[in-house]
Amino acid sequence: MCSSIFENLYVLYSQSMKVYKFGGASVKNAAAVKNVGDILMKFGSNELLIVVSAMGKTTNALEQLAKAYLNNYPNKGQIYSEIKKFHDDIISELIQGKQSHGYDDIENLFIELECELEMEPASDPDLVYDQIVSYGEIFSTRIVSTYLNEIGCKNRWIDARNFIATDNTYRDAKVDWDLTQKLIHQKLNPIVKKQMVITQGFIGKNNDNLTTTLGREGSDYSAAIFANCLNANELTIWKDVAGVMNADPKLFPDAIKIEHLSYPRAIEMAFYGATIIHPKTIQPLQQKQIPLFVKSFINPDATGTCVGVEIEKEDDVPAYILKKDQTLLSIKCKDYSFMSEDRLSNLFALFNQYQIKVNLMQNSAISFSVCINQHETRVQDLMQALALHYDIKVNQHVELFTISHAKNDSVPAYVANHKVILEQKTRNTIQWVITANLTH
Ligand code: ASP
Ligand code: MG
Repeated sequence: MCSSIFENLYVLYSQSMKVYKFGGASVKNAAAVKNVGDILMKFGSNELLIVVSAMGKTTNALEQLAKAYLNNYPNKGQIYSEIKKFHDDIISELIQGKQSHGYDDIENLFIELECELEMEPASDPDLVYDQIVSYGEIFSTRIVSTYLNEIGCKNRWIDARNFIATDNTYRDAKVDWDLTQKLIHQKLNPIVKKQMVITQGFIGKNNDNLTTTLGREGSDYSAAIFANCLNANELTIWKDVAGVMNADPKLFPDAIKIEHLSYPRAIEMAFYGATIIHPKTIQPLQQKQIPLFVKSFINPDATGTCVGVEIEKEDDVPAYILKKDQTLLSIKCKDYSFMSEDRLSNLFALFNQYQIKVNLMQNSAISFSVCINQHETRVQDLMQALALHYDIKVNQHVELFTISHAKNDSVPAYVANHKVILEQKTRNTIQWVITANLTH
């Protein structure tokens, strides 16, 4: 039943405007780039915009480079050379000894980056970070676009920064939807209607004409922005997994693939910590009812998962989700007074001020517990502010385990093998805060 719905949707939307997204793992080496070529030869079409991330772990390496540049570490040149060699090796393997000038401008991009590293860094480290780290997506899209053109998969390379307009929040830029919509509608739409387009995920530009980034793993979000503004008929994210699973198969060997997932359920799973889809991706798709297909680039003919509007026969399977790198704070008033509403509102004002993401909370007479994302500096700053009025108990490096759409009360083996610090149950969600280490 579900797979036939999936197939019908896929056939229905395969004749029209599409957006594809290929992440870092799908372009991690020359063989992977060739595989992308094979997929596009088979599933490519004219009205297709392809969003590509940086190759493999390039963004991590560029983060190291930005740090070395900002702190003038002696290994700056070495990190740069490693990044360059990684890309040069991929290009050589794609060319396979043949004469090709198609990749020459990538050499120029590396020279441009090298020159940037010679200059005195600007005073804002986040601004510097975005200018350096964004090179990853520029390199990858140049290489992929050139390779595809050389194998006869004709496409046009486009700079995403000319279309994704953002504010100045470097490393976590907010999209200026009105301007982005206008730019994509007026300038990009006519191009995509004519030919296949390759562009970058993750990056945008602010009105100071400087590059911004949308936050780590933000390429899915970029793809959703393009899909929304182009009024695309579908977005397909090509992954190294079969689709959206109901648990991480490394932790749960019985994990199963979900055929159809509603938008609210996908948002819920992303909120609890499922990493398969970036949390911001669903909303722009849901707004225009654009279906999202999560498919395997290893097995491209398989159906994958379809995220879309709720259907009658929704797969109502429980999802088991682990969120790592958490901190549990238990906050008590110094004078043992009640956790009254004014105190709670004061606490939330502090969470907001220090940009703390609350993943679970629990209130008792004199104490209030929150499970929050571990963040080097923010949690320290928050604790200093709290210490003025409250006694705080801290459990660092804990994990949050959630079962959504739970069907019974049974405790999964993963939880049973760890020490439980806090438990919370609602109608169909069960959550545990557990220590990160095995108890035996
Ligand atoms: N290359 C960026 C990152 O690794 C964006 C992405 O892959 O989605 O965070
Ligand atoms: Mg990446």
